[in-house]
Amino acid sequence: MNITSEFDTIAAISTPPGEGAISIVRLSGDEALEIAQKVFKTSKDLMTVPTHTIHYGHIKDPKNDKVIDEVMVSVMREPRTFTRENVVEINCHGGIVVTNQVLQLLLRQGARLAEPGEFTKRAFLNGRVDLSQAEAVMDIIRAKTDKAMHVALTQLDGNLSTLIQSLRQEILETLAQVEVNIDYPEYDDVEEMTAKLLLEKSETVKQQIHHLLKTAKQGKILREGLSTAIIGRPNVGKSSLLNYLLKEDKAIVTDVAGTTRDVIEEYVNVRGVPLKLVDTAGIRETEDIVEKIGVERSRKALAEADLILLVLNQSEPLTEADKDLLKVTEGMKRIILLNKTDLVSQLDLSELEELVSEEVFAISVHKSQGMEQLEQRIADLFFDGGTVEKDATYVSNNRHIALLEQAELALEEVVMGIESGMPVDLVQIDMTRCWDLLGEVIGDSVQDELITQLFSQFCLGK
Ligand code: GDP
Ligand code: ZN
Repeated sequence: MNITSEFDTIAAISTPPGEGAISIVRLSGDEALEIAQKVFKTSKDLMTVPTHTIHYGHIKDPKNDKVIDEVMVSVMREPRTFTRENVVEINCHGGIVVTNQVLQLLLRQGARLAEPGEFTKRAFLNGRVDLSQAEAVMDIIRAKTDKAMHVALTQLDGNLSTLIQSLRQEILETLAQVEVNIDYPEYDDVEEMTAKLLLEKSETVKQQIHHLLKTAKQGKILREGLSTAIIGRPNVGKSSLLNYLLKEDKAIVTDVAGTTRDVIEEYVNVRGVPLKLVDTAGIRETEDIVEKIGVERSRKALAEADLILLVLNQSEPLTEADKDLLKVTEGMKRIILLNKTDLVSQLDLSELEELVSEEVFAISVHKSQGMEQLEQRIADLFFDGGTVEKDATYVSNNRHIALLEQAELALEEVVMGIESGMPVDLVQIDMTRCWDLLGEVIGDSVQDELITQLFSQFCLGK
């Protein structure tokens, strides 16, 4: 990689916009301390205080000595900082307007406003984190449940990187061994040995990549949420169910920074599974969907959901509309709910059993009956029993998934090449390609534009 980094000092507000009591203005770069010193009035000299210490004082405009805010200032000297540069963090107390004034003041003293993700980009460029770790920072910011956060933290720890590095090492050693074999062709069976080695190694590496990819679906769910549609004819209890799921601590309010989506997404945490209840027409609450848009089109609309909660009312007989919905969702990932079990049953169960083969969940949203089982079922559907392996490496990032899929393909070509008797030096090309692709996951062979594009997705101030 060949990137020239400018190490001018950058500044940004690094706490999310909003009402928080404290907001932090972060400075990073060679001049971070000098610039902070110009506006920070205290008995101490920031230039000489020990590293990783925090100091009380006031931010004053040096032009007119006007006090802008009462602050705590943390001083962290390189290299033990996130960016591996000098870092100063100013904890402001005066609200967002004042925080903005502090930032403006720092910019007038020679700092430059950081681009989105530029702090993390510097951490990457300065070798503090690798690319997959940098991406994990973004995931942590966006994590919607504890489990999602845990996955991102594991990745930040370098779990994925370590695994990828060991796979690359294995490939490299194999390629080296192949070179040696080619250079010493005096052994009789060298051709055969080399082919066997390549075959064995690509099989084992391929298996590990395959295993990683198998976790990708779960990783993606953790990261992005499971788009969920609650459907049923009017008055069966869809809104009640939605409100139940959204209640109290379960509702996760997120604002996905850096994306340009207009729709408001509501997330609920069901045993670690983030359900994304997309509030767009037709998906979240689909009254009369079949009647309105016809069987085929509603099938299509519903097929886009990862999970369908189909609500029936057991205090009434099955209607044609119920049967339509049962038919339309056949074969999709759905959970059929029989709501209002607190009322007298009017629904003919044997009629229902003829229409569906799977287990049906009897619930009463009003009496909170059967809700535990429902939640467990959702968790089971997506996490094989509701547990996310604690320290498993989950691949969740689309870029990583695409690269790993290509790497797996490259190894398949190695295997096919050897089995069809292709010359070893041609097979080597595919093996080398796999090595390159894995390198891209951790940023060892990525292009400059990719880096710029990736980091620009970050929130400002990160
Ligand atoms: P939707 O039209 O499908 O969204 O249904 P609502 O959630 O608006 O509920 C319709 C009516 O059924 C409301 O009066 C709810 O209070 C009631 N309801 C919902 N769940 C239950 C339940 O479990 N038991 C009983 N008895 N009534 C319920
Ligand atoms: Zn409703």
